[in-house]
Amino acid sequence: MIPEELALQKESLRQIYPSCPYMKALPLSKWEEALEKGKLLPVEGLPLPAFRLRREFKSFPVGTVFAQGFFLPGFPHIPRVFVLKTGVPRYIRGPFFAEEKIEGYNVRLARLNGQIWAFTRRGFVCPFATDRWPDFLPRLPEFFETYPHLAVCCEVAGPENPFVTEWPPYIKEDVDFFVFDLLDLEKWSFIPPEEKYSLLKAFDFRRPEVTGPLTPEQISPLEALIKRYDAEKREGVVLKPVNLQKGRVLKYVTSASNLGDLRVAFPYVGELDANYIVHRLVRLAIGRWELGQPFDEAFFQELGESLFGEISPLLERVSRGEPVEEIFRVRLREEQALERLLAHFRRAQVRIELRRKENLGSHILVEFAKIYPRATTFWASKLEGLAQID
Ligand code: ATP
Repeated sequence: MIPEELALQKESLRQIYPSCPYMKALPLSKWEEALEKGKLLPVEGLPLPAFRLRREFKSFPVGTVFAQGFFLPGFPHIPRVFVLKTGVPRYIRGPFFAEEKIEGYNVRLARLNGQIWAFTRRGFVCPFATDRWPDFLPRLPEFFETYPHLAVCCEVAGPENPFVTEWPPYIKEDVDFFVFDLLDLEKWSFIPPEEKYSLLKAFDFRRPEVTGPLTPEQISPLEALIKRYDAEKREGVVLKPVNLQKGRVLKYVTSASNLGDLRVAFPYVGELDANYIVHRLVRLAIGRWELGQPFDEAFFQELGESLFGEISPLLERVSRGEPVEEIFRVRLREEQALERLLAHFRRAQVRIELRRKENLGSHILVEFAKIYPRATTFWASKLEGLAQID
Protein backbone atom coordinates (compact mmCIF):
# COMPACT_ATOMS: atom_id res chain seq x y z
CA MET A 1 0.00 0.00 0.00
CA ILE A 2 1.43 3.44 -0.87
CA PRO A 3 2.08 5.67 2.20
CA GLU A 4 -0.77 8.13 1.42
CA GLU A 5 -3.23 5.26 1.08
CA LEU A 6 -1.96 3.63 4.27
CA ALA A 7 -2.41 6.93 6.17
CA LEU A 8 -6.01 7.16 4.93
CA GLN A 9 -6.74 3.54 5.88
CA LYS A 10 -5.25 4.10 9.34
CA GLU A 11 -7.54 7.05 9.79
CA SER A 12 -10.58 4.89 8.93
CA LEU A 13 -9.34 2.21 11.28
CA ARG A 14 -9.07 4.75 14.11
CA GLN A 15 -12.69 5.77 13.50
CA ILE A 16 -13.99 2.20 13.44
CA TYR A 17 -12.02 0.94 16.44
CA PRO A 18 -14.01 2.57 19.29
CA SER A 19 -17.32 1.28 17.86
CA CYS A 20 -16.24 -2.39 17.72
CA PRO A 21 -16.10 -4.04 21.16
CA TYR A 22 -14.37 -7.16 19.79
CA MET A 23 -11.66 -5.08 18.14
CA LYS A 24 -11.00 -3.40 21.46
CA ALA A 25 -9.82 -6.75 22.83
CA LEU A 26 -6.50 -5.68 21.27
CA PRO A 27 -4.85 -2.27 21.41
CA LEU A 28 -5.34 -0.07 18.34
CA SER A 29 -1.60 -0.29 17.67
CA LYS A 30 -1.91 -4.06 17.00
CA TRP A 31 -4.56 -3.40 14.34
CA GLU A 32 -2.45 -0.65 12.79
CA GLU A 33 0.46 -3.04 12.67
CA ALA A 34 -1.77 -5.70 11.05
CA LEU A 35 -2.75 -3.13 8.42
CA GLU A 36 0.88 -2.22 7.78
CA LYS A 37 1.80 -5.88 7.36
CA GLY A 38 -1.10 -6.59 4.99
CA LYS A 39 -2.82 -8.94 7.46
CA LEU A 40 -5.78 -6.58 7.65
CA LEU A 41 -7.02 -5.23 4.32
CA PRO A 42 -9.67 -2.73 3.26
CA VAL A 43 -12.87 -4.28 1.91
CA GLU A 44 -13.60 -2.88 -1.53
CA GLY A 45 -17.03 -2.46 -3.06
CA LEU A 46 -18.78 -1.10 0.04
CA PRO A 47 -20.04 2.49 0.41
CA LEU A 48 -18.21 2.87 3.75
CA PRO A 49 -14.80 1.90 5.13
CA ALA A 50 -14.45 -1.70 6.27
CA PHE A 51 -11.60 -4.15 6.84
CA ARG A 52 -11.16 -7.88 6.45
CA LEU A 53 -8.62 -10.29 7.89
CA ARG A 54 -6.55 -11.96 5.19
CA ARG A 55 -5.46 -14.77 7.52
CA GLU A 56 -6.31 -15.89 11.02
CA PHE A 57 -5.12 -13.16 13.40
CA LYS A 58 -4.85 -13.65 17.18
CA SER A 59 -8.22 -15.32 17.96
CA PHE A 60 -10.00 -13.86 14.91
CA PRO A 61 -10.68 -16.19 11.97
CA VAL A 62 -9.74 -15.39 8.38
CA GLY A 63 -12.48 -13.40 6.65
CA THR A 64 -13.55 -11.48 9.77
CA VAL A 65 -14.98 -8.10 8.71
CA PHE A 66 -14.95 -4.90 10.76
CA ALA A 67 -16.76 -1.65 9.98
CA GLN A 68 -18.31 1.20 11.97
CA GLY A 69 -20.38 -0.56 14.68
CA PHE A 70 -20.13 -3.80 12.73
CA PHE A 71 -18.35 -7.06 13.47
CA LEU A 72 -18.75 -10.17 11.32
CA PRO A 73 -16.55 -13.04 12.47
CA GLY A 74 -15.06 -15.31 9.82
CA PHE A 75 -16.84 -18.64 9.39
CA PRO A 76 -14.88 -21.20 11.46
CA HIS A 77 -13.30 -24.29 9.90
CA ILE A 78 -15.15 -27.49 10.68
CA PRO A 79 -13.04 -30.48 11.71
CA ARG A 80 -13.45 -33.57 9.56
CA VAL A 81 -13.80 -37.09 10.90
CA PHE A 82 -12.67 -39.97 8.71
CA VAL A 83 -14.37 -42.75 10.70
CA LEU A 84 -17.88 -42.39 12.12
CA LYS A 85 -17.78 -45.17 14.71
CA THR A 86 -14.77 -43.79 16.58
CA GLY A 87 -14.85 -40.15 15.47
CA VAL A 88 -18.40 -39.17 16.40
CA PRO A 89 -18.40 -40.39 20.05
CA ARG A 90 -14.92 -38.92 20.47
CA TYR A 91 -16.20 -35.38 19.85
CA ILE A 92 -19.97 -35.41 20.50
CA ARG A 93 -21.37 -36.29 23.91
CA GLY A 94 -25.13 -36.01 23.48
CA PRO A 95 -27.75 -36.11 20.71
CA PHE A 96 -26.91 -34.40 17.44
CA PHE A 97 -28.44 -33.50 14.09
CA ALA A 98 -27.00 -34.57 10.75
CA GLU A 99 -27.43 -31.69 8.30
CA GLU A 100 -26.78 -32.35 4.67
CA LYS A 101 -23.45 -30.81 3.67
CA ILE A 102 -24.31 -28.77 0.60
CA GLU A 103 -21.70 -28.52 -2.13
CA GLY A 104 -21.35 -24.90 -3.09
CA TYR A 105 -19.66 -21.87 -1.62
CA ASN A 106 -20.08 -20.17 1.70
CA VAL A 107 -21.44 -16.65 2.15
CA ARG A 108 -22.43 -14.73 5.24
CA LEU A 109 -25.31 -12.31 4.66
CA ALA A 110 -25.49 -9.38 7.03
CA ARG A 111 -27.02 -5.94 7.20
CA LEU A 112 -24.52 -3.13 7.16
CA ASN A 113 -25.51 0.51 6.94
CA GLY A 114 -29.12 -0.41 6.08
CA GLN A 115 -28.16 -2.63 3.13
CA ILE A 116 -27.79 -6.40 2.87
CA TRP A 117 -24.37 -7.67 1.76
CA ALA A 118 -22.99 -11.13 1.14
CA PHE A 119 -19.42 -11.74 2.31
CA THR A 120 -17.28 -14.60 1.09
CA ARG A 121 -15.24 -16.86 3.33
CA ARG A 122 -12.27 -14.51 2.92
CA GLY A 123 -14.32 -11.42 3.72
CA PHE A 124 -14.71 -10.05 0.19
CA VAL A 125 -18.10 -8.68 -0.81
CA CYS A 126 -19.58 -11.40 -3.05
CA PRO A 127 -21.14 -9.51 -5.98
CA PHE A 128 -23.04 -12.58 -7.15
CA ALA A 129 -24.77 -13.45 -3.87
CA THR A 130 -25.31 -9.76 -3.07
CA ASP A 131 -27.18 -9.47 -6.37
CA ARG A 132 -29.12 -12.73 -6.17
CA TRP A 133 -30.28 -13.16 -2.54
CA PRO A 134 -33.65 -11.43 -3.23
CA ASP A 135 -34.54 -14.25 -5.64
CA PHE A 136 -34.09 -16.92 -2.98
CA LEU A 137 -34.49 -15.26 0.42
CA PRO A 138 -37.16 -12.63 -0.28
CA ARG A 139 -38.00 -12.26 3.41
CA LEU A 140 -34.44 -11.44 4.41
CA PRO A 141 -35.11 -7.68 4.91
CA GLU A 142 -37.97 -8.56 7.26
CA PHE A 143 -35.68 -11.03 9.07
CA PHE A 144 -33.01 -8.36 9.61
CA GLU A 145 -35.65 -5.90 10.86
CA THR A 146 -36.32 -8.32 13.72
CA TYR A 147 -32.82 -9.76 14.09
CA PRO A 148 -30.31 -7.09 13.06
CA HIS A 149 -27.67 -8.70 15.28
CA LEU A 150 -27.68 -11.99 13.35
CA ALA A 151 -25.81 -13.02 10.20
CA VAL A 152 -27.27 -15.61 7.86
CA CYS A 153 -24.70 -18.22 6.81
CA CYS A 154 -25.56 -20.03 3.63
CA GLU A 155 -24.24 -22.17 0.87
CA VAL A 156 -24.84 -20.81 -2.60
CA ALA A 157 -25.12 -23.95 -4.71
CA GLY A 158 -26.11 -24.97 -8.20
CA PRO A 159 -24.69 -25.37 -11.70
CA GLU A 160 -24.79 -21.65 -12.48
CA ASN A 161 -22.54 -20.12 -9.83
CA PRO A 162 -19.35 -18.16 -10.48
CA PHE A 163 -16.93 -20.04 -8.22
CA VAL A 164 -17.29 -23.80 -7.89
CA THR A 165 -17.79 -26.62 -10.37
CA GLU A 166 -19.65 -29.08 -8.16
CA TRP A 167 -23.21 -28.79 -6.93
CA PRO A 168 -26.01 -30.90 -5.42
CA PRO A 169 -27.39 -33.30 -8.07
CA TYR A 170 -30.99 -32.19 -7.46
CA ILE A 171 -30.36 -28.58 -8.54
CA LYS A 172 -30.71 -28.66 -12.28
CA GLU A 173 -30.30 -25.01 -13.20
CA ASP A 174 -29.29 -21.66 -11.72
CA VAL A 175 -28.52 -21.80 -7.96
CA ASP A 176 -30.27 -21.85 -4.62
CA PHE A 177 -29.37 -20.44 -1.20
CA PHE A 178 -29.32 -23.00 1.64
CA VAL A 179 -29.20 -21.42 5.07
CA PHE A 180 -27.25 -23.65 7.45
CA ASP A 181 -26.37 -21.35 10.35
CA LEU A 182 -27.38 -18.15 12.10
CA LEU A 183 -24.52 -16.34 13.71
CA ASP A 184 -25.11 -14.01 16.66
CA LEU A 185 -22.76 -11.10 16.03
CA GLU A 186 -23.06 -9.67 19.53
CA LYS A 187 -22.32 -12.92 21.33
CA TRP A 188 -20.03 -14.29 18.57
CA SER A 189 -21.79 -17.65 18.72
CA PHE A 190 -24.14 -19.79 16.64
CA ILE A 191 -27.86 -20.09 17.41
CA PRO A 192 -28.57 -23.66 18.69
CA PRO A 193 -29.90 -25.98 15.96
CA GLU A 194 -33.54 -26.31 17.09
CA GLU A 195 -34.00 -22.57 17.54
CA LYS A 196 -32.32 -22.02 14.18
CA TYR A 197 -34.61 -24.52 12.39
CA SER A 198 -37.73 -22.81 13.71
CA LEU A 199 -36.46 -19.37 12.65
CA LEU A 200 -35.61 -20.65 9.17
CA LYS A 201 -39.10 -22.12 8.90
CA ALA A 202 -40.74 -18.92 10.11
CA PHE A 203 -39.01 -16.92 7.36
CA ASP A 204 -39.31 -19.56 4.60
CA PHE A 205 -35.54 -19.89 4.22
CA ARG A 206 -34.49 -23.07 2.45
CA ARG A 207 -32.24 -25.18 4.65
CA PRO A 208 -30.19 -28.34 4.10
CA GLU A 209 -32.03 -31.60 4.79
CA VAL A 210 -31.87 -32.41 8.51
CA THR A 211 -31.88 -35.89 10.06
CA GLY A 212 -32.15 -36.58 13.77
CA PRO A 213 -31.57 -36.13 16.54
CA LEU A 214 -29.24 -39.13 16.42
CA THR A 215 -27.00 -40.42 19.21
CA PRO A 216 -23.24 -41.06 19.14
CA GLU A 217 -23.73 -44.55 20.58
CA GLN A 218 -26.02 -45.59 17.70
CA ILE A 219 -24.04 -44.98 14.54
CA SER A 220 -25.98 -47.27 12.17
CA PRO A 221 -28.73 -44.73 11.20
CA LEU A 222 -25.94 -42.27 10.32
CA GLU A 223 -24.16 -44.92 8.26
CA ALA A 224 -27.40 -45.64 6.41
CA LEU A 225 -27.86 -41.91 5.73
CA ILE A 226 -24.32 -41.60 4.38
CA LYS A 227 -24.84 -44.59 2.10
CA ARG A 228 -28.05 -43.05 0.76
CA TYR A 229 -26.33 -39.69 0.17
CA ASP A 230 -23.48 -41.52 -1.54
CA ALA A 231 -25.88 -43.33 -3.88
CA GLU A 232 -27.58 -39.98 -4.61
CA LYS A 233 -24.18 -38.30 -5.18
CA ARG A 234 -24.69 -35.81 -2.38
CA GLU A 235 -21.69 -34.35 -0.59
CA GLY A 236 -22.01 -35.52 2.99
CA VAL A 237 -23.09 -34.33 6.41
CA VAL A 238 -22.29 -31.72 9.00
CA LEU A 239 -23.04 -33.04 12.47
CA LYS A 240 -24.27 -30.47 14.98
CA PRO A 241 -24.82 -31.24 18.68
CA VAL A 242 -28.35 -30.40 19.86
CA ASN A 243 -26.61 -28.63 22.72
CA LEU A 244 -23.69 -26.82 21.11
CA GLN A 245 -21.81 -26.91 24.43
CA LYS A 246 -21.83 -30.70 24.37
CA GLY A 247 -19.41 -31.39 21.60
CA ARG A 248 -17.90 -30.19 18.37
CA VAL A 249 -19.49 -29.58 14.98
CA LEU A 250 -18.01 -32.20 12.61
CA LYS A 251 -18.04 -32.89 8.90
CA TYR A 252 -17.93 -36.13 6.96
CA VAL A 253 -18.15 -36.59 3.21
CA THR A 254 -19.32 -39.41 0.94
CA SER A 255 -17.25 -41.52 -1.39
CA ALA A 256 -19.10 -39.90 -4.32
CA SER A 257 -18.02 -36.45 -3.14
CA ASN A 258 -14.36 -37.48 -3.00
CA LEU A 259 -14.61 -38.95 -6.51
CA GLY A 260 -16.32 -35.78 -7.74
CA ASP A 261 -13.51 -33.66 -6.23
CA LEU A 262 -10.89 -35.77 -8.01
CA ARG A 263 -12.74 -35.39 -11.31
CA VAL A 264 -12.84 -31.61 -11.14
CA ALA A 265 -9.43 -31.12 -9.52
CA PHE A 266 -6.98 -33.37 -11.33
CA PRO A 267 -6.89 -31.42 -14.63
CA TYR A 268 -6.08 -28.29 -12.60
CA VAL A 269 -3.49 -29.93 -10.36
CA GLY A 270 -0.93 -27.26 -11.25
CA GLU A 271 -3.17 -24.69 -9.54
CA LEU A 272 -3.56 -26.67 -6.33
CA ASP A 273 -1.53 -28.08 -3.51
CA ALA A 274 -0.98 -31.64 -4.77
CA ASN A 275 -1.95 -32.90 -1.30
CA TYR A 276 -5.52 -32.08 -2.29
CA ILE A 277 -5.50 -35.26 -4.38
CA VAL A 278 -3.85 -37.41 -1.70
CA HIS A 279 -6.36 -36.29 0.95
CA ARG A 280 -9.29 -37.44 -1.22
CA LEU A 281 -7.64 -40.82 -1.83
CA VAL A 282 -7.09 -41.30 1.91
CA ARG A 283 -10.72 -40.39 2.67
CA LEU A 284 -11.89 -42.83 0.02
CA ALA A 285 -9.77 -45.63 1.45
CA ILE A 286 -10.89 -45.21 5.06
CA GLY A 287 -14.53 -44.27 4.37
CA ARG A 288 -15.21 -47.17 2.03
CA TRP A 289 -13.48 -49.57 4.39
CA GLU A 290 -15.62 -48.48 7.36
CA LEU A 291 -18.90 -48.57 5.46
CA GLY A 292 -18.14 -51.92 3.82
CA GLN A 293 -18.27 -50.34 0.36
CA PRO A 294 -16.40 -52.67 -1.95
CA PHE A 295 -12.98 -52.14 -3.51
CA ASP A 296 -14.06 -53.96 -6.63
CA GLU A 297 -13.82 -53.60 -10.39
CA ALA A 298 -16.73 -51.13 -10.49
CA PHE A 299 -15.03 -48.87 -7.93
CA PHE A 300 -11.64 -49.08 -9.64
CA GLN A 301 -13.34 -48.16 -12.92
CA GLU A 302 -15.07 -45.17 -11.30
CA LEU A 303 -11.89 -43.98 -9.61
CA GLY A 304 -9.94 -44.27 -12.86
CA GLU A 305 -12.62 -42.38 -14.75
CA SER A 306 -12.71 -39.67 -12.12
CA LEU A 307 -8.98 -39.12 -12.34
CA PHE A 308 -8.39 -39.55 -16.06
CA GLY A 309 -11.80 -39.17 -17.72
CA GLU A 310 -11.16 -35.61 -18.85
CA ILE A 311 -7.40 -35.69 -19.18
CA SER A 312 -7.01 -36.60 -22.84
CA PRO A 313 -8.97 -33.63 -24.30
CA LEU A 314 -7.14 -31.37 -21.84
CA LEU A 315 -3.71 -32.56 -22.97
CA GLU A 316 -4.82 -32.17 -26.60
CA ARG A 317 -5.76 -28.56 -25.92
CA VAL A 318 -2.53 -27.75 -24.15
CA SER A 319 -0.46 -29.46 -26.85
CA ARG A 320 -2.15 -27.15 -29.40
CA GLY A 321 -0.92 -24.19 -27.32
CA GLU A 322 -4.32 -23.39 -25.82
CA PRO A 323 -4.68 -22.52 -22.13
CA VAL A 324 -6.38 -24.63 -19.48
CA GLU A 325 -9.72 -22.99 -18.89
CA GLU A 326 -13.07 -23.64 -17.27
CA ILE A 327 -16.42 -22.26 -18.39
CA PHE A 328 -18.85 -20.75 -15.88
CA ARG A 329 -22.37 -19.51 -16.47
CA VAL A 330 -24.35 -17.28 -14.13
CA ARG A 331 -27.61 -15.35 -14.06
CA LEU A 332 -27.58 -11.85 -12.62
CA ARG A 333 -30.41 -9.52 -11.79
CA GLU A 334 -28.53 -6.29 -12.39
CA GLU A 335 -26.13 -5.28 -15.12
CA GLN A 336 -23.96 -3.56 -12.49
CA ALA A 337 -23.49 -6.88 -10.71
CA LEU A 338 -21.54 -8.09 -13.73
CA GLU A 339 -19.15 -5.13 -13.45
CA ARG A 340 -18.74 -5.87 -9.75
CA LEU A 341 -18.14 -9.56 -10.40
CA LEU A 342 -15.47 -8.77 -12.99
CA ALA A 343 -13.86 -6.29 -10.58
CA HIS A 344 -13.93 -8.97 -7.89
CA PHE A 345 -12.05 -11.40 -10.15
CA ARG A 346 -9.52 -8.69 -11.02
CA ARG A 347 -8.86 -8.06 -7.31
CA ALA A 348 -8.56 -11.76 -6.63
CA GLN A 349 -6.18 -11.96 -9.65
CA VAL A 350 -8.33 -14.47 -11.51
CA ARG A 351 -8.10 -14.18 -15.30
CA ILE A 352 -11.52 -14.02 -16.92
CA GLU A 353 -12.71 -13.88 -20.52
CA LEU A 354 -16.32 -12.91 -21.13
CA ARG A 355 -17.79 -15.29 -23.73
CA ARG A 356 -21.52 -14.58 -23.88
CA LYS A 357 -24.10 -12.16 -22.54
CA GLU A 358 -27.80 -12.62 -23.11
CA ASN A 359 -30.82 -10.74 -21.86
CA LEU A 360 -33.40 -13.08 -20.30
CA GLY A 361 -35.84 -10.32 -19.32
CA SER A 362 -35.66 -10.31 -15.53
CA HIS A 363 -32.02 -11.48 -15.54
CA ILE A 364 -28.95 -11.46 -17.72
CA LEU A 365 -27.19 -14.70 -18.53
CA VAL A 366 -23.43 -14.44 -18.62
CA GLU A 367 -20.89 -17.01 -19.69
CA PHE A 368 -17.22 -16.57 -18.97
CA ALA A 369 -14.03 -18.62 -19.00
CA LYS A 370 -11.56 -18.75 -16.14
CA ILE A 371 -8.06 -19.12 -17.49
CA TYR A 372 -5.63 -21.07 -15.35
CA PRO A 373 -2.06 -19.98 -16.13
CA ARG A 374 -0.37 -22.19 -13.55
CA ALA A 375 -2.22 -25.34 -14.64
CA THR A 376 -1.39 -24.46 -18.26
CA THR A 377 2.33 -24.09 -17.51
CA PHE A 378 2.26 -27.24 -15.38
CA TRP A 379 1.11 -29.41 -18.29
CA ALA A 380 2.66 -27.39 -21.15
CA SER A 381 6.20 -27.45 -19.74
CA LYS A 382 6.06 -31.23 -19.57
CA LEU A 383 4.56 -31.57 -23.06
CA GLU A 384 7.33 -29.33 -24.41
CA GLY A 385 9.86 -31.88 -23.19
CA LEU A 386 11.27 -30.01 -20.21
CA ALA A 387 13.04 -32.30 -17.76
CA GLN A 388 12.43 -32.11 -14.04
CA ILE A 389 14.23 -33.51 -11.01
CA ASP A 390 11.60 -35.19 -8.79
P1 ATP B 1 -15.13 -28.14 2.22
O1 ATP B 1 -15.20 -28.96 3.45
O2 ATP B 1 -16.50 -27.79 1.72
O3 ATP B 1 -14.22 -28.72 1.19
P2 ATP B 1 -13.68 -26.08 3.61
O4 ATP B 1 -12.44 -26.83 3.85
O5 ATP B 1 -13.58 -24.65 3.32
O6 ATP B 1 -14.52 -26.73 2.45
P3 ATP B 1 -14.70 -26.07 6.23
O7 ATP B 1 -13.97 -24.85 6.51
O8 ATP B 1 -14.32 -27.24 7.03
O9 ATP B 1 -14.65 -26.38 4.71
O10 ATP B 1 -16.28 -25.84 6.39
C1 ATP B 1 -17.21 -26.64 5.82
C2 ATP B 1 -18.01 -25.86 4.82
O11 ATP B 1 -19.14 -26.63 4.48
C3 ATP B 1 -18.59 -24.58 5.37
O12 ATP B 1 -17.73 -23.52 5.07
C4 ATP B 1 -19.91 -24.41 4.61
O13 ATP B 1 -19.75 -23.49 3.55
C5 ATP B 1 -20.17 -25.77 4.02
N1 ATP B 1 -21.47 -26.34 4.42
C6 ATP B 1 -22.34 -26.93 3.59
N2 ATP B 1 -23.41 -27.38 4.24
C7 ATP B 1 -23.24 -27.05 5.55
C8 ATP B 1 -24.02 -27.26 6.72
N3 ATP B 1 -25.18 -27.89 6.69
N4 ATP B 1 -23.53 -26.76 7.87
C9 ATP B 1 -22.33 -26.13 7.93
N5 ATP B 1 -21.55 -25.93 6.84
C10 ATP B 1 -22.00 -26.39 5.66
